Amino acid sequence: MSAAEERAYRAALEEALTAGHRMLAQGASSLDAVVAAVTMLEDSPLFNAGRGSVFTADGTNELDAAVMEGATLKAGAVTLVTTVKNPVKLARVVMEKTGHVMLGAEGAERLARVHGLEIVEPGYFHTERRWEALQRMKRAAQARADASFTEAEKHGTVGAVALDARGNLAAAASTGGRNNKMGGRIGDSPVIGAGVYASNATAAVSCTGEGETFMRSLAAYSVSALMELKTWSLARAAKHVIHARLKSLGGTGGLVALDRAGNVAMPFSTPGMYRGSIRADGVPEIAIYGDD
Ligand code: ASP
Repeated sequence: MSAAEERAYRAALEEALTAGHRMLAQGASSLDAVVAAVTMLEDSPLFNAGRGSVFTADGTNELDAAVMEGATLKAGAVTLVTTVKNPVKLARVVMEKTGHVMLGAEGAERLARVHGLEIVEPGYFHTERRWEALQRMKRAAQARADASFTEAEKHGTVGAVALDARGNLAAAASTGGRNNKMGGRIGDSPVIGAGVYASNATAAVSCTGEGETFMRSLAAYSVSALMELKTWSLARAAKHVIHARLKSLGGTGGLVALDRAGNVAMPFSTPGMYRGSIRADGVPEIAIYGDD
């Protein structure tokens, strides 16, 4: 990554963190904050979510997102969305307005229209960089070579976790999924317990990585379960899920997690993970590579 690209990623993360912080400082809920932060990342072409989503093998964009509230264990998720600018907002609508947890395809698109969410032409999600990455991956697949793809070219998810002044946790995630995925493929991000989980009893968790292994290991819920049933710390549980449980299935990725005491864990098994945190003092801390 060039220095200019790195600066752009850092700036986008800082903007999302400070927006969430500002809201929390003004008394907003953790759910408001995670939806606002993820919305900003969806609007950036840099990340594989919303505007910058990767393409399916058919050359389309199919977006997934989810939210979960730690106080109530209420959750909402959407999958296979193609015209909704901010799938994370739609996930919140599913949670708050429908009595369901997960909605997909046309039913989800209809709900977005009914609730006045911003609708875009599918071309809105077409970025040259992702299109090029699709062509390269197709060429590599044809040549049966998995050569030289960065993690960011293959996949990626944006996520946020937050703790508000009332002590409530929330988590959100949004993604374009995996580059060159089959049309109709659904990843872990909208599957509650796999890509996202939040409980005030334990932690808020949002994952990124090979969705298939996150689903098979119920990664996000596993962090919570290890804390609840084994009384492990957040750090130990999160590390175990990424470096042992996921690894045993051959999966790589990372997660961001937060408990009610304000402890943060961001383990990852990829070379890097764009990540950041911000505390009550409002000073953002951002990292890309390095230790988890
Ligand atoms: N978890 C996402 C998916 O499999 C992609 C990623 O986060 O890398 O859809």
